[in-house]
Amino acid sequence: MKIVDVNDVSIEITKGDIANQPDIDAIVNAANAWLRTGGGVAGAIHRAAGVGLEEECRPLAPIRPGEAVITGAHNLPNRFVIHCLGPVFGTDKPSDKLLEECYRNALSICEEKGIVSVAFPAISTGAFGYPLEDATRTALKTVTEKAAGLEKVRIIRFVLFSEKDYKVFEKVTDEITLQS
Ligand code: ADP
Repeated sequence: MKIVDVNDVSIEITKGDIANQPDIDAIVNAANAWLRTGGGVAGAIHRAAGVGLEEECRPLAPIRPGEAVITGAHNLPNRFVIHCLGPVFGTDKPSDKLLEECYRNALSICEEKGIVSVAFPAISTGAFGYPLEDATRTALKTVTEKAAGLEKVRIIRFVLFSEKDYKVFEKVTDEITLQS
């Protein structure tokens, strides 16, 4: 794991499964508009949470790209799930602004709810086709900028599914923190 401190917030980069982060208050789902189970992150989260999560999600759907909504975590070892709809790269435009909104809106929800620790997957970089390095830069810049204003959130963890993705996050984190 790599940890970078920005103001009083620790930004952690780790390899693993978003559905297996038992020390974290809220995990973020790379959701689809209908907040249903599916492949990738949504599939892993819904499988681990059980059908109660889909039931709780139903009245909240559909959501629009950039939007985030919060539910309970059901059978997951966390307190909450924050569902973000990332942009489909090149279709939902401007994709970079919509991806930024996902991270900002999720962190705003954390502040409202007094959530101390939150874990994100690399939103939009799977089925939604966002090039990983660009998405990584947007994700890290957005949370680094937002960190200064956070009063409740103290840990922001990025959970990468593969070694390759982890390496990209590590490299971009070094670039961004060396600049600032
Ligand atoms: P999107 O539809 O927003 O692109 P995906 O779930 O298809 O979301 O993929 C987002 C990223 O999450 C991809 O990089 C994918 O490899 C990764 N991923 C898939 N499953 C998991 C998991 N269980 N935990 C963490 N990351 C995952």
